[in-house]
Amino acid sequence: MLRFKAVEEASKRKAVEVQAPAAKTSDYFGKYVFDRNNMRKYLSKETLKLVLNAIDKSDSLPREVANHVAAGMRMWAMEMGATHYTHWFHPLTDGTAEKHDAFVDFDGNGGMIEEFSGKLLVQQEPDASSFPSGGIRNTFEARGYTAWDPSSPAFIMKDTLCIPTIFISYTGEALDYKTPLLKSIAAVDKAATDVCRYFDENVRKVYSYLGWEQEYFLVDKALYNARPDLALTGRTLMGHDSAKNQQLEDHYFGSIPTRVAAFMRDLEYECYKLSIPVKTRHNEVAPNQFELAPIYEECNLAVDHNLLLMSVMDVVAESHGFKVLLHEKPFKGINGSGKHNNWSLGTDTGVNLLGPGKNAKENLQFIAFVSNVLMAVYRNNALLKASISSATNAHRLGANEAPPAIISIFMGSQISALLDEIEVIKGIRDIELSEKTGTRLSLNYIPEIMVDNTDRNRTSPFAFTGNRFEFRAVGSSANCAASMLALNTAVAGQLKEFKAGVDALIARGKTTEEAVFAMIQKNIRESRAVRFDGNGYSEEWKQEAEKRGLDCETRVPVIFDAYVAPRTIGLFTESGVLSERELHARNEVKWEQYTKKIQIEARVLGDLAMNHIIPVATRYQGLLLENVSRIFALYDKEKASKIAAQDLVIIEDIADHLNFIKVKTDEMVEARKTANRIENEREKALMYCEKIAPYFDEIRYHIDKLELTVDNEMWTLPKYRELLFIR
Ligand code: ADP
Ligand code: MG
Repeated sequence: MLRFKAVEEASKRKAVEVQAPAAKTSDYFGKYVFDRNNMRKYLSKETLKLVLNAIDKSDSLPREVANHVAAGMRMWAMEMGATHYTHWFHPLTDGTAEKHDAFVDFDGNGGMIEEFSGKLLVQQEPDASSFPSGGIRNTFEARGYTAWDPSSPAFIMKDTLCIPTIFISYTGEALDYKTPLLKSIAAVDKAATDVCRYFDENVRKVYSYLGWEQEYFLVDKALYNARPDLALTGRTLMGHDSAKNQQLEDHYFGSIPTRVAAFMRDLEYECYKLSIPVKTRHNEVAPNQFELAPIYEECNLAVDHNLLLMSVMDVVAESHGFKVLLHEKPFKGINGSGKHNNWSLGTDTGVNLLGPGKNAKENLQFIAFVSNVLMAVYRNNALLKASISSATNAHRLGANEAPPAIISIFMGSQISALLDEIEVIKGIRDIELSEKTGTRLSLNYIPEIMVDNTDRNRTSPFAFTGNRFEFRAVGSSANCAASMLALNTAVAGQLKEFKAGVDALIARGKTTEEAVFAMIQKNIRESRAVRFDGNGYSEEWKQEAEKRGLDCETRVPVIFDAYVAPRTIGLFTESGVLSERELHARNEVKWEQYTKKIQIEARVLGDLAMNHIIPVATRYQGLLLENVSRIFALYDKEKASKIAAQDLVIIEDIADHLNFIKVKTDEMVEARKTANRIENEREKALMYCEKIAPYFDEIRYHIDKLELTVDNEMWTLPKYRELLFIR
């Protein structure tokens, strides 16, 4: 009855009428953000200047100035109704963390005053011994510090002023994603600026940009609450396919259901007030699946905005009677969700380094950067795969709906042809750098061919899309920082090597252009193996990729090894993004997280099998048995056997499934006990991957068969056909 109650509750739900905001978006955009606009109103000219220097030029802020900023920030926040403040940070678990304090202190005369000093703004010491640290922070020195990141503006959520911060250990090691992300942004800025100087001496800074596309599912709250597996693991561990799901392809870009449209409007309104520049919304391929994308922003800000979006979604969904599912694969048999990370580099002079230029010189620069990205991804393909791997994303990768577990790059036919041409040309002298085009390759020609760059390849994990690369293998629940910091660091390292190569050639008497061109050719030649424009889902590709030497590992705990491979350690320590100790510690956390996720799923599956599935199926079997015995009481044996024949088949069928479920569940519990005795985190995770996770599908198969057999009225869990269609 549990299930029917939930279905009834869901079906009664009406769209919440959203009051369309009377004002224009631009009137309330950033209302809850202490942005430059608000800073101008609440800070003195002198303080403002110093803060902006801290943001734009990474200058340090004297404590005195921090006091002024804190005072202005508090005044603004209190006027906006905030009573508390928190340092907002991204520990190595999913999501964000916060600890709220009120703006109050004793006034020394027995009363209270509102208080928020520069000291509290700049640094805090959350008692954070329970955040994972991979052993860096032993509990006896359980101190970790959060420190203000002025480059991401403070904002208000409900009654709390949230201050974006980094989170580091007492000994200065990163315990979060933001610290290495910021360092990777600085590293790629430095390396890219140096390379840009070959082309334009005025370049002072290179920004990395990120535009994420967030996919998600919505389900009704009542149905969600009636599915312990969804509530505890984020995905359904059982559930037979709905007779209709995505085969009619009627959901993608279809009209958005009223209830969902109301949710989206509300969500966008909340996003704008927090300065999240959301722009695109549409249905995705699977039923109940949707996508949201903003206008791209500077990478650090974009990462914060994505994390903020994920929590805002949750809150807004609540008031619309929905639950947002960010898990990469909530439902079997239909598409999962990803987060496409559109990434590019751009100069402070306004040039997109991954977009074709206006003239031959800019195009040489464009090709230099593209070829360096090719090379960086080629040499670090295992690392980049590690950066997007998790227990949850593993369900999606390589499942014929998402990129395979092999990182390759799709360049599109035109750019591919161009790269091929450049590779075999004798030298820069065979390139036309002036306006006239002869028989030689003309770089002036590139903008025109790019206009028509519409070929897309949805099977590629890393695709060039005309003026950016799109890293598509990222999981929908992931913190974008993990993949962005790996990519930025890889590209920074590569650009540094490129520059060293160019400088060496110049020292040997080549012109700058000749040297750059020679290094471009080298990049194109050496990174050839990572370029693949064919079908990434095909079996042949797996074999081909193996031959090409690309990383084809599919076991997540083993994929993580790439983080501590000598090549990665060299790359990260040289750029200063992460130390060897940090890399090792972070992997401990990754393995531990992996184990815990699988462990929880195994427990939930075991519990549901034992106290939902087996009891319900046994009860139904009992009804059939009663029926059969009545038949035998009434008729002679021969006739009764005939009449009861079908019931007997079903009874035996159920018995077979029940036996299987019971035996396998017991085996799984035993395997878990063995695994739990392993001390080494990597080995434990590997055991969970190889010896425990495989039980899930086996057990599920029999549960799903029972779902089809058992009386619909007795089944306690909402079914896919109910979960997947919002009316
Ligand atoms: P598509 O569905 O074609 O991939 P979308 O409009 O859904 O396109 O999303 C594209 C994303 O890429 C948006 O977030 C957009 O702002 C972002 N984007 C566009 N140009 C760049 C760029 N140069 N660098 C980074 N992101 C970009
Ligand atoms: Mg896209």
